[in-house]
Amino acid sequence: MSQIYLEMNHIKKTFGELEVLKDISLSVHKGEVVSVIGPSGSGKSTLLRCATMLEKMDGGELSFLGEKAAWEENGKCVYANKKQLKEIRKNFGLVFQNFNLFPHYTVMKNIIDAPVCVDGVSKEEAKERAWKLLKQLGLSDKADAYPYQLSGGQQQRVSIARALALQPKVLFFDEPTSALDPELTGEVLRVIRQLADEHMTMVIVTHEMQFAKELSDRVIFMEKGLVCQEGTPEEVFGNPNARVKEFIGRVM
Ligand code: ADP
Ligand code: MG
Repeated sequence: MSQIYLEMNHIKKTFGELEVLKDISLSVHKGEVVSVIGPSGSGKSTLLRCATMLEKMDGGELSFLGEKAAWEENGKCVYANKKQLKEIRKNFGLVFQNFNLFPHYTVMKNIIDAPVCVDGVSKEEAKERAWKLLKQLGLSDKADAYPYQLSGGQQQRVSIARALALQPKVLFFDEPTSALDPELTGEVLRVIRQLADEHMTMVIVTHEMQFAKELSDRVIFMEKGLVCQEGTPEEVFGNPNARVKEFIGRVM
């Protein structure tokens, strides 16, 4: 079996009284595409935010490529120190629902900003990488455009290019197409499919069931902060348990 790139064990997260993640374990191997599906409010975004350390967990363990980012000590979740976390963060990128591009930066500057300012890559090298990505994502003519001059689908492709510019080992997507008009979702899904063909390791929260079915190596159905069913797309879509069946029947 290939290397484990992301491992989450017994993740717990509460907001006040609300137990949003009750006990979630998930490991993702190199080159795997894992889709996370489930009803609204089931904790999918929170899971992604905990995995990417935008949110602190209350319990459980998190590691990337065997490096522990967080673990339990005396019943509490403790995190690695700042310097270690900075290194661990370099392993992953995140693509949000609402693109989150810098509105006052051109496409090029959006893409090279973090590699240059955070990673210390030279401007020339960063630009070279950016041109390759723009070409790969069909945006070669948009380098000088500002986000407001682009369609939602183009903006989302830029935000994917921006994440890729940091050369992550794992890419997380939180409903990458749900802010888009239906006719624009295809171009974003095509880009993600292209990344899957190139064996990019990805965790994708999505409402696009057909896409999850076709693209994923593994599908995880979440409900009320727990994994309700997990398996290959054939297992989950072909032999869904009662709850998953009801959900799929409603959304597909
Ligand atoms: P999903 O992405 O599956 O729709 P979320 O992870 O966004 O679910 O939310 C799960 C639950 O956690 C929801 O009930 C939501 O209201 C709650 N929640 C999420 N973030 C916060 C927060 N920062 N503070 C309080 N409650 C939150
Ligand atoms: Mg969500």
